[in-house]
Amino acid sequence: MNVYDAERMADILAPIGYELTATAEDADLLILNTCHIREKAAEKVYSDLGRLNKLKFARAPSARPMMIAVAGCVAQAQGEEILQRAPYVDIIFGPQTYHRLPEMVARAYRKTGAILETEFPLESKFDHLPKPRALGRYTAFLTVQEGCDKFCTFCVVPYTRGAEFSRPTTDVIDDAKNLVKGGVREITLLGQNVNSYHGPDHNGNEWGLGRLISKLAEIQDLERIRYTTSYPAEVDNDLIETHRNIPALMPYLHLPIQSGSDRILSAMNRHHTTHLYRSLVDRLRNARPDIVLSSDFIVGFPGETDTDFQSTLDLVDEIGFIGAYSFKFSARPGTPAAAMPKQVPDKVKSDRLKILQNKLNTAHIAFNAATVGKKIPVLLEGHGRYPGQLIGRTPYMQAVHVYAPKKQLGKIVNLRIDAAHANSLSASKIIEKVGRAVT
Ligand code: SAH
Repeated sequence: MNVYDAERMADILAPIGYELTATAEDADLLILNTCHIREKAAEKVYSDLGRLNKLKFARAPSARPMMIAVAGCVAQAQGEEILQRAPYVDIIFGPQTYHRLPEMVARAYRKTGAILETEFPLESKFDHLPKPRALGRYTAFLTVQEGCDKFCTFCVVPYTRGAEFSRPTTDVIDDAKNLVKGGVREITLLGQNVNSYHGPDHNGNEWGLGRLISKLAEIQDLERIRYTTSYPAEVDNDLIETHRNIPALMPYLHLPIQSGSDRILSAMNRHHTTHLYRSLVDRLRNARPDIVLSSDFIVGFPGETDTDFQSTLDLVDEIGFIGAYSFKFSARPGTPAAAMPKQVPDKVKSDRLKILQNKLNTAHIAFNAATVGKKIPVLLEGHGRYPGQLIGRTPYMQAVHVYAPKKQLGKIVNLRIDAAHANSLSASKIIEKVGRAVT
C-alpha cells in the first residue's frame, strides 16, 4: 500500500509541476514514505533522515533549496518526535492527509514553520486525488479498503491507518476501467483487511469483496485480479465462491495466520483458530483446486513456548504454504502485547525465526522447482536485466525471465519453464499465446 500511496502522492503533485527524479540529489522535494509496523522499519527513518539532511544542507546556499517531507505511518505515530529529532524536516503528514500535499508544499515554501498534518480528516483523500494513471505499466495496485478495526494485540495499524473504510463500488470500478484503458492487464486490490470490504453501490447497498471482484472481472481486457491482505476470520462464502467462478481471480492467496498455536492466536486477539484456518483452506482448495497459499508469521509473541512454536512448524508442514513472510515479534508502543508479561528473549526469537524461515524457504524452493518442465501462463510485464529479455509473472507471482520480442509486453503467453532459481524461473521461449490481450 505504501507503493500505491507514493504513486498517488506523485499524481497529486504533478499538476503543480513536480515529477519523479531518478536520484535524491536531483529532487527539490524529498518524501520519505514510512512504515511503523515493526521497530526496525521505524528506526530506519531517523538514519535515512540524517543522510537526506546532508543533501538538503549542501543545497541550502543554491537557488534551488531542497525540502524534506516525512509521510506514512511513522509520521502519523511520531509526528512530534520527528520534529524534535529532525528539526530540519519541513512537512510531516500521515497516510490519510496526503491529498492536501499541494497546499502543504505551498505553505512550507512560504516558510510558516514545519507543517504537521496527522489528524484523521473528515473528508476522504480518495475524493481529492486525480484518477490513477497506468503510466505505461501492465500491472497496478488499487486501494479499495483502508484501515483496521480488528485490534490484534501486536499491531499498530488501527492507530496509524485509522478505522476501516471501504471505497464506493463505482469509484473502484471507474479507477479499474481507467487503468485497463491505459494498458493495465492485472490489478491487485489493496486493503489492510481487504476482505472486510463493504463498499456502498450507487443505491447505498453494500457489496462484499467477492461481488466487487466478480464485477471487475467483466471489464474487457482485465486479465488478472488479485487481492491482499486478507483477514482469515472474514473470508466468507461469497469470496470462496468467487474463487470457484471467476477464472481471472488468480489462484494464489496470501492469508496471514501468524501462529499455529491456538493459545497464542487467542492472546493475539486474532478471531480465528487453527481449526477455522484449516477448514478455510479446505474450502478454498475445494472451490479452486489449483489454489496455493502464502502467509505471515510472528515468532516470539509474549508467552510463546517451545510447544507453541512447534505447533507453528507443524502447521506449516500440514498446510503446505508456498512461501511466507515471517517476523520476530516487535513490541510496538501503545499496543497491548508490548505490555504483556513473559516477553520472549531476543536470542530465542532469532533462533525460532531461523528455523521457521529455513522451513518456509525450503518449501518455496521446492514449489519453484516443481514448475520445471511445466507449461505456465505468464503475463509479460517488463524488461529483464539483459538485452532482449522480458520478465513476467506466473499466476502464483513467480517471476519468469524469457527472451522474447518487446511487442509481447502486456500479453499472457504460455511458457515452458526450463529452470528454477531461488527467487525466479526462466524459460527459453514462448510456446503459445493465450489470453484476451493477444490479437
Ligand atoms: N491485516 C493483516 C496483517 C497486515 S500487517 C492481518 O490481519 O493478518 C503485515 C504483517 O506484519 C502481519 O501479518 C504480521 O505478521 C506483521 N506484524 C504486524 N505487527 C507486528 C509486530 N508488532 N511484530 C512483528 N510483526 C508484526
